[in-house]
Amino acid sequence: MTAPNTVDNRAFHPLESLASMRHEFGEHGGVNMSIEASTTFTVMKAGTLPEMFQGRLGPEAGGCYLYGRHFNPTVYVLGRELAALEGAQAAYGTASGMSAITAVVMQCCEPGDRVLAANSLYGGTYALFHDFLPRKTHVETMFVDIADHIAVEAACMHGVKLVYLESMSNPTLVVADIPRIAGIAHRHGAKLVVDNTFAPLILSPVKLGADIVVHSVTKFINGASDIIAGAICGSHEFIGSLMDLHTGALMLMGPTMDPRVAFEISLRLPHLGLRMAEHSRRALVFSQRLADRGMDVIYPGLTSHPQHQLLKQIAHPDFGSGGLLSLDLGTTARAYQLMELLQNNDRFGYIAVSLGYFDTLMSCSASTTSSEMGEADLRSAGISPGLVRISVGYTGSLEQRWRQLEDALKQLGDVQDFAMGTT
Ligand code: PLP
Repeated sequence: MTAPNTVDNRAFHPLESLASMRHEFGEHGGVNMSIEASTTFTVMKAGTLPEMFQGRLGPEAGGCYLYGRHFNPTVYVLGRELAALEGAQAAYGTASGMSAITAVVMQCCEPGDRVLAANSLYGGTYALFHDFLPRKTHVETMFVDIADHIAVEAACMHGVKLVYLESMSNPTLVVADIPRIAGIAHRHGAKLVVDNTFAPLILSPVKLGADIVVHSVTKFINGASDIIAGAICGSHEFIGSLMDLHTGALMLMGPTMDPRVAFEISLRLPHLGLRMAEHSRRALVFSQRLADRGMDVIYPGLTSHPQHQLLKQIAHPDFGSGGLLSLDLGTTARAYQLMELLQNNDRFGYIAVSLGYFDTLMSCSASTTSSEMGEADLRSAGISPGLVRISVGYTGSLEQRWRQLEDALKQLGDVQDFAMGTT
């Protein structure tokens, strides 16, 4: 772990870490690895299979594979690549981000355990903690504003097994002080789990003190909105425990990643850095121009953002401040109007949930991806009805896209005279 509140970029750079990994060649010397599209694997000696069942042989020990739900070579290579990117000892791919999150909680918690979770989370994760887990597993969750470290410490005093948060929260873009919260969690014997979906490469939660990192690989890591996938990163021991024949949440609940999916995702990792940097560059320019014109915009790269300084301290400088910005239009009706103008008149982007696509995606969080939260919880998380979450794409030119955004805002009457703007 690095010193509190900093990430030592000389000691760890995610792309250097990925590049220094042993490259997996294809079966016939191809520059890309082969897809191992087999669900079951043969052995030369019948006695090898029982050894694998007893856990004495596996991908690490002897390079043996047993069955695709357990370990598949192509998914295993992707896991090693994702571990390298996150600076974790190990990682493994899952069928979705939600299955990664669920498997982690099921692996770490017993009935009666308590979780402390951030009060601003993706709606599906909120529903998992708020509705599903208490009913099905008797795991109860306290929701806390994780920017309030006194409240986090006070909640931990009640005894929690896990502290769960998003490195950059969906959709409010609160940046978590991971080193500080890891310190609090560990003092109270809890593990820190970080969903790093919004900030791959930008933040390296394991290096900042987190125990486990989860991803919706569906988003930036994949980048083309064509694949649903997830990942879990952590210690060798933890990733191995997920595959235990008797108690492993991945082995027994079975949210397996298909090797064809792993192959596709692996091919997109080399340009993840270029994509993140461009998403961030455009999101910053749009945010600055919107803020200059008096719009109510949330973006961690703006100096006005409450955790701007923190982000500068803990982020890798090469990838900017993220590809998402949130714009508050005041009411749901105005939010819908803006999105319709932007999609139907200008082709600025699409009215669609999800994020990390090469084109811009826009959704009104309170009535879509955060709609699982009740009104009071939406309010306390700062998710107002008119908040439009914009995942800024990189198609077209930046100025073309800005003209489209400017145009739509003028039509909406939000900005009368953009000529006054200087940037
Ligand atoms: N985590 C975050 C921050 C998300 O935004 C999402 C989905 O939007 C998920 C997890 C769930 O991921 P998936 O849709 O891949 O299951």
